[in-house]
Amino acid sequence: MSDASKNRAREEDQDQDDLPRKSRYCYSDFDEPIIFLDSDDDDISSTSSVPEKGVINLEEMILEWIQKLPHLPRKVPKRLPPLKVLPEGLKRKPTLILDLDQTLIYSTSSRLSGYERAKSITVGLQNVWVHPRPGLFEFLKKCRSWYTEMILWTAAKAEYAEMSITKLAIEHFFDERLFNEDCYVRELESIIPPEFQANLVLESELTNRGEQAGIGKLFLKPLCLLNREQCFLVDDSKEMIALNSHNQIIHIPPFTGDINDRELNKLLPLLEQLSKSQCVTDDIARYHSEVKLREA
Ligand SMILES: [Mg+2]
Repeated sequence: MSDASKNRAREEDQDQDDLPRKSRYCYSDFDEPIIFLDSDDDDISSTSSVPEKGVINLEEMILEWIQKLPHLPRKVPKRLPPLKVLPEGLKRKPTLILDLDQTLIYSTSSRLSGYERAKSITVGLQNVWVHPRPGLFEFLKKCRSWYTEMILWTAAKAEYAEMSITKLAIEHFFDERLFNEDCYVRELESIIPPEFQANLVLESELTNRGEQAGIGKLFLKPLCLLNREQCFLVDDSKEMIALNSHNQIIHIPPFTGDINDRELNKLLPLLEQLSKSQCVTDDIARYHSEVKLREA
């Protein structure tokens, strides 16, 4: 797809209030936005850790703040019952948790070319095209053959998410489905230290659409709520490190409609290996350090 059509698709996507969206923040100084962030844009790790004069890397700062959030109180109700105890001698496999938007699918108001299996759904009064990430069906089939439990956990609304997976005929791959109402919601402002709040402008204030789109809120997925000892999450959002161990999260670059995307396919060897893991956090830690070495 050309850059122009990609940009057009993004603009169209931005018009859709009901679709799940990334948090956006900007830092204003004398009413001049210094940084405007969109998690769809890329790799934060590639941005300089030494900000240029007058520039604050707010996304890095927010990621740092959310990593320091206190543990959840014990009374927070669990989302799922614990797994049944296995008979002695049987080894339990880890649980694979998958995000939906921009991890498995991409939704826009118009159909992108090259996606024969894209499906149209109507959410409220809005018509939406749901595009499966290249390699999605093969990816889910393989994962299903390796894992005894797969959970979909999306920050999107249940109606939209259910319709998307049903239309794409991938609903049967998941043992459980969790939606935005199952997320742990934090107001972004409650995370940001007061000294930074004066100049912080949330997109909700810029657009007056905050209520509708849930902008200014973070929909977090603390894995401790799932009552599973061995589980991990594959998600495009770096904010999902909040309330989780870094070694329970596998970050996948966001999918925004690129027909040449091969990220699901690239993850398969790791997921096969993790399905046999005795301790997923140790193995994911090893994977993270290998990635770091490769990038260095
Ligand atoms: Mg996502």
